[in-house]
Amino acid sequence: MKSKLVLHGLSSFLIVALSFALTPVRSEVLPTAPQKVDGEPVLQTGLVKTDGTSSSKGKDNYLDEAIKDGAARWKSEKMPILVFVKPGTGLNGYKDNFDGILKQSFAQWSDVSGGKVAFKFTTDPSQASISCAWTDSNDTIDRSEEGLALPKVSDMGELQGVEILMLTDFPEQSEGTTDDHVRGICLHEVGHALGLDHSSQPGDVMFGGASSVAALSERDKKTLFSLYAAPDSFLTSHPMRFDKVTGNQLDPKIQQMNFNNQGIADAKAGNFSRAITNFEAALRLAPGDSSISTNLGTAYYVRANKEIISQDEPAAEKDFKKAVEYLSRGGRKALAAQLCDTLVFIARSHKREADALKYEGLKRSLQSMK
Ligand SMILES: [Zn+2]
Repeated sequence: MKSKLVLHGLSSFLIVALSFALTPVRSEVLPTAPQKVDGEPVLQTGLVKTDGTSSSKGKDNYLDEAIKDGAARWKSEKMPILVFVKPGTGLNGYKDNFDGILKQSFAQWSDVSGGKVAFKFTTDPSQASISCAWTDSNDTIDRSEEGLALPKVSDMGELQGVEILMLTDFPEQSEGTTDDHVRGICLHEVGHALGLDHSSQPGDVMFGGASSVAALSERDKKTLFSLYAAPDSFLTSHPMRFDKVTGNQLDPKIQQMNFNNQGIADAKAGNFSRAITNFEAALRLAPGDSSISTNLGTAYYVRANKEIISQDEPAAEKDFKKAVEYLSRGGRKALAAQLCDTLVFIARSHKREADALKYEGLKRSLQSMK
C-alpha cells in the first residue's frame, strides 16, 4: 500500500583530526564499518524498497524481509525520539482526530519494542528527529501509495532522521476517509520510520501491497522486537544497500535524493569526480540541505587528497577550497577550519604569502562561527 523510501543522508562519516602538512589526509573509519578502506570516508547509504523476494510465510516474524535492504534502527542514545506532527488543518479529507491516531500509532510500536523505543512529541520542528505531515495531494507520493517515509540512515545502519508524509484524501472512497484507513497508514509509516521494510503477508501492517489492516499483527510486534533486541553487530552484518528512490520521479525532492544516492554510489566506487557532479546536482535542488553539502564537501576533500598524492597541487588547492566551503555549509566548521591549514601550507610552499594570510583569515572566521 505505501512505499518505503530510505534515503541516504551522508552526515555521519567520520574524519578524525588532521595533523599534517602535505601528507595525504587520513580519514578514519569506524572500526566496525563494513568494507571500508582507510583513506576513504565512511559514506552513508540510501536505499529503496524493492519487492520482497524472500517469503516469511509461516514464520512468527518477518525480520529477514524487514531488513532485506539492510538493517537500520535508532540508537538507544536517541531515546526518546523527538517527533513533530504538523496538523493537516484545511486539507481535503483531514479530520482533527488524525493527529491523535498518528500519536497512538507511535505509542503502539513503542509498546511492543521491549522498552527499546520511546517517543516524545515536540512542538518545535527544528528539534524533531521524526517530522510528520499530511497531504491531500499525492504529487510526491506514488499514485498507488498512501504514505511515504523518508529515513536518513548512516551506513552503520543508524537512523538519523525521518520525514513522514501521509495522504488524507481518497476520492475513490465514497464514504470519506475512515479512521481505520488512516490508522493503517500511520502504523505502516511509523514502522518504516523505525527501520522496518515490507512484509509479504497481507495480515501484517507492514504488508507492501493493498491492505486494510489497521492493527499490529503478532508478526509485526515480534519483528520490531527482534530488530531492537539484536546486538549492534547485527547492523554491520546486514549493511544498507541503496537504490533508486521510488515515488514520483518528476518530483524535485525525489530527484534530489536520487542524485544524492547516486553520488554516494559513485563515491563508494571510488569515482569522486562523478560523485561531485551528482552531489552538486542534488544541492541545486536542495540548496539548504546540510547532509548533501557535507557529502559534496567530503567528495571534494577526498579528491583533493588524491590530487595531493599525485602531486597535482593546483587541483588539490581548488578542491580543498571547495571542501572548506561545502563542509562549513554542512555544519562541519571545525573540520573545514582544519583543512585551511593545508591551504596555508600549499600557499606558503609556493611563496604566496598573501594567499596564506587569506586562508589563515578564513580559518579564524570558521573557528569563530558557532
Ligand atoms: Zn511501505
